[in-house]
Amino acid sequence: MSSKVIKKIKKRDIQKIVVDRDLCIGAAPCVVVAPSAFELDSEGKAIVLKDWIKHTDDELLIAAQSCPVQAILLFDKLGKQIFP
Ligand code: SF4
Repeated sequence: MSSKVIKKIKKRDIQKIVVDRDLCIGAAPCVVVAPSAFELDSEGKAIVLKDWIKHTDDELLIAAQSCPVQAILLFDKLGKQIFP
């Protein structure tokens, strides 16, 4: 049973995050929801930090959903876009 629990915790569908800089308006809810994953650069646009992996899939999904212009794209390990 414990191995099942570990497997569940380690399960991760999101393998890649892309911010569409043309869409991003620097509204920043993504930074608030997932501060280890997103930061605003000098142009006021979100960039993806390497520590994004510290966030759970749920947190990353909420961050992507919080973006008012859907500029955060999430991909799975097969390269398939899973959000939006
Ligand atoms: S929430 Fe969307 S628009 Fe706002 S900074 Fe993040 S990616 Fe850009």
